[in-house]
Parts: sequence; structure tokens; C-alpha cells
Amino acid sequence: MSLPGKTARRFAWKIIDGSRLVFLSFPRNVQCNICGWKGRHFTSDTWHYQVNCPGCGSGIRQRLFFAALQNIEGLSFDRLIHGRNILHFAPEDIVSSNIRKKAAHYVTADYFRQDCDLKLDMSDMPSVKNESFNIAIAFDVLEHVPDYQKALDEIRRILSPEGVAIFTVPQKDSLPVTYEDPAIITPEDRTKHFGQYDHLRIFGDDFSEIVERKGFSVTAVNESDFTRDIRSKHVLFPPRLSKHPLATNYRKVFFCRKKT
Ligand SMILES: [Zn+2]
Repeated sequence: MSLPGKTARRFAWKIIDGSRLVFLSFPRNVQCNICGWKGRHFTSDTWHYQVNCPGCGSGIRQRLFFAALQNIEGLSFDRLIHGRNILHFAPEDIVSSNIRKKAAHYVTADYFRQDCDLKLDMSDMPSVKNESFNIAIAFDVLEHVPDYQKALDEIRRILSPEGVAIFTVPQKDSLPVTYEDPAIITPEDRTKHFGQYDHLRIFGDDFSEIVERKGFSVTAVNESDFTRDIRSKHVLFPPRLSKHPLATNYRKVFFCRKKT
């Protein structure tokens, strides 16, 4: 294609993108409780219909987390974030930027990424002292960790007494028991069985019990913990259930308090 042709095509896409944003902006039916974006509806991805914020990219799990901080007294910003020492694994920018400024000490960690404060294997963290953090956050991380049971032990070790781990995990709808199989190793097979090429398992309804067995008291927050108005305004539940067999339609945020 000639250069003028490419330029014209780029210009046309810009107009289409701009028109789409204007179309999405009115009427203001929904509002992101993280970045404040308001509009007609959120955007869809390949599995889920109208669940992602066009402003910040947040999905239901991040907005559920913020809804808890904003609306549930025992899990508020004041109780969980203000003045706390926080370790955040695989941090999402939009979550990070809202938490960093309120925490006393905020540290990010990842096993692969270079843009975090620490390079950590969640299942083996000898460089992190016992009881050195009040809060550990890991959204959709445990399905990537080979020995996630050991990771739960490590998280418990580095949390202060009464410290809180905050997790989300992909959970297949109506799957009673977490499914993993070490014989499933190719990216294609992992996608087929666990939903993504680098997932090592898909969690089931037993996730709370698994974490409780590790010495935590678990509170699972979902859309039913909020008023209908908050639920629909911030889209804390999919407007339309995904038909994908491995979809997580019923998202939960697990607040896991270390038992002493
Ligand atoms: Zn947003």
C-alpha cells in the first residue's frame, strides 16, 4: 500500500475510534468506581460482554475490590490501606496508583516483570522478613504459580498478625473442586483445560476452604454485598453471562485475614 493510502487509513481509524468514544460516552448509564469514567456501557472482551472500563481497563475484579474499600466498613480504605505496609504482586497500574498514595509503605513485586520493586517467587521469598507486611495483594496470580500451596504458606509468613491477603482467582462456574493436572504442560492443552496458555490450574468453589486450611479467616466479597444501584452503576456483575465453558461469571474478591 502507498504511503498516502496508509495515512488515509490511519486517519479513518482515528475518526472511527473518536466516534466510538463519543458514542460510548452518552448517556451516562455506568461509571467506573476507580477512574471515574462515565458512559453508555463498558467494553467487551472475547469472553465477556461489556465488563471492561474504556477509561482505565478495569474489569469486574478490580471494581469489586474498590467497591469493598468504598462501601464496606470492615474492609474500608481506612482499615486496610491507610498507613499500612503493602506488598502488591503483579500490580495493575490503576490499582497501584490509587493505593500507593494512601499506604505507609508500598512495594510491588513480580517474578517476570522488570518494572517492579522486587523480583519475587511467591512460593519462596527468603529475602522478605517474617511479618513484615500488613497487606498482600495478588489478583489473578495464584493460577500461574507452580506450587501455590507453598505460596499461601509464604504469604502467611510475611504477613503481620491479623494481616490480610487479598486474592482473586479465575474460578470456573459450578466447579466444586480446583482442577489441576501436572501432566498438562503444553500451551495449547493449558488453554484448553485451564483457560489460558500459562495457567497451571483452574480454581473451583473450594478456593476459600483451601486458603482457610492455611490459617486464614476468609471473607469472600461479591456483587451481592452491594446495593442494586452500586452493582449496576459500577457493573460489578456481567450484564450478560459468558457462555464460554471456562468463564468466571461469578467473580469474588477474597479478603483473607491471618489467624494468630
Ligand atoms: Zn475506569
